[in-house]
Amino acid sequence: MSHSSIFVTGLGFDVHQLKPLNDTREIMLCGVAIPSQYDVIAHSDGDVVLHALTDALLGAIGAGDIGEHFPPTEKKWKNADSSLFLSESLRLYEKRNAKLVNIDITIICETPKINPYKIKMKNRLSMLTELPLHRINIKATTTEKLGFLGRSEGIAAQVVVSTQLIEKL
Ligand code: MG
Repeated sequence: MSHSSIFVTGLGFDVHQLKPLNDTREIMLCGVAIPSQYDVIAHSDGDVVLHALTDALLGAIGAGDIGEHFPPTEKKWKNADSSLFLSESLRLYEKRNAKLVNIDITIICETPKINPYKIKMKNRLSMLTELPLHRINIKATTTEKLGFLGRSEGIAAQVVVSTQLIEKL
């Protein structure tokens, strides 16, 4: 039996609400704790990037979405470290003989400022996914003060991944 190598794409998108605080705490983005005067409203640790990345991975291998695999109604995911969702998805990759090729991320928010944390975020993602740094890209943008993201009422992330599949012919 012969095999062919094909490439597939997965897309992920996530939003969480931000709540202003009177003090500084930490919010999680790409598995990195970032000091912030806002709290993220979420069942888990609220890491929008890891949620969007998990959805992109599941999308690429046709495995549904994060809500199906990790329902927010389940108590065990309360305050969960979102890297668990990522590692579970990568376990599915292994099962299906899928190989993650690259990750391209866009984080959309007014706050926090992403640039000072980009290198740390890439390092963390490289650790979690075992991808080399040059195949992980992080972009940050704002909505020019427009809409809920522009008013710092939320934070959003979009992620695209490419994945290699080996299929039997
Ligand atoms: Mg989410």
